[in-house]
Amino acid sequence: MNLHNNVQLIAGPCSAESRQQLLSTAEQIKDVGLDYFRAGIWKPRTRPNDFEGVGAKGLDWLVEVREKFGFRVGTEVASTKHVEEAIRAEIDMLWIGTRTTANPFLVEEISQALKGAKIPIMIKNPINPDLKLWIGAFERFKGNNINDLHAIHRGFSVYEKIKYRNLPNWQLAIDFKMQMPQTPLYCDPSHIAGKREYILEISQKALDLRFDGLVIETHCNPEKALTDAAQQLTPQQLKEVLGKLVFRRRIDANEEELNEYREQIDIIDCNLVEILGKRMKISEKIGDYKKRNDLTIFQSVRWDELLQKNIDLAQKENLSENFASQLFKLIHQESINIQEKILSEKIDEKNKS
Ligand code: PEP
Ligand code: MN
Repeated sequence: MNLHNNVQLIAGPCSAESRQQLLSTAEQIKDVGLDYFRAGIWKPRTRPNDFEGVGAKGLDWLVEVREKFGFRVGTEVASTKHVEEAIRAEIDMLWIGTRTTANPFLVEEISQALKGAKIPIMIKNPINPDLKLWIGAFERFKGNNINDLHAIHRGFSVYEKIKYRNLPNWQLAIDFKMQMPQTPLYCDPSHIAGKREYILEISQKALDLRFDGLVIETHCNPEKALTDAAQQLTPQQLKEVLGKLVFRRRIDANEEELNEYREQIDIIDCNLVEILGKRMKISEKIGDYKKRNDLTIFQSVRWDELLQKNIDLAQKENLSENFASQLFKLIHQESINIQEKILSEKIDEKNKS
């Protein structure tokens, strides 16, 4: 079972706290179209002495949830011992937490403990924005012949105060998608948000970026939760969020009107590239002139004028100041690179003679 347009849904509390809490949460979300029920049994905490999970006895509660409500159930593993206990309890899905993904020793250990297993594994992004490290974790699992792999984007830790608990860095998630197109990518809006009021907007953004599923922390009594209290939804709030989300079509069906626009865009892009090529040829001539006349490359008065003039022009075309400024900074930087190359040729020639 899944949500509209094949979007997958995983929900359940951050941590399993008691048998009663798991059963009550599961009971209240049994009809929302869940693909997996989640709960952390072993909790990685930033500081010692916080609640570190109920341990292996929570596995029995998860199994009871599966038996009572027919959900597949999943939990986080971070060591060989966790893997052995979870496999023994026949848990249906395991996820690798963000702090574990950042540690290649642990990822290797866990993937070896799971060698050849058919169980689905969901790998959260590492806590630091390092795409190679994330993809490296997938490579380690594949190297141990574990191939039912999924990714969870849960944002990245930053020191600065930001709106959300973790920086989404959507571009990194898009880059992941481009490099790993066969791997289903889920979004965990709960850990990005840190506060329940942001879950809807982050989930909608993920759906619009064509994520394959959502992982939303849900607790029968979030106010009293032992972990991540501020970000967990009540079952009722989960239903409200799901009711408000817009599930747009995920794949275009070679549609006539859309194709026409795309043809127009292709022609314009072709012209844009040609024009940029012409502009850079003139940069070469300017580099040549500066070389002959012993002039520095960067001329601040000219650059200020050029940037301002083009931002004004862009705004008349309804382009944003930020876009125009970023675009012209990029063009200007490339022009500087070209001129630097020409001027350094002069140094090389001087050194030769
Ligand atoms: C969790 O899913 O409860 C969890 C601990 O997440 P993360 O590893 O993303 O912090
Ligand atoms: Mn959590």
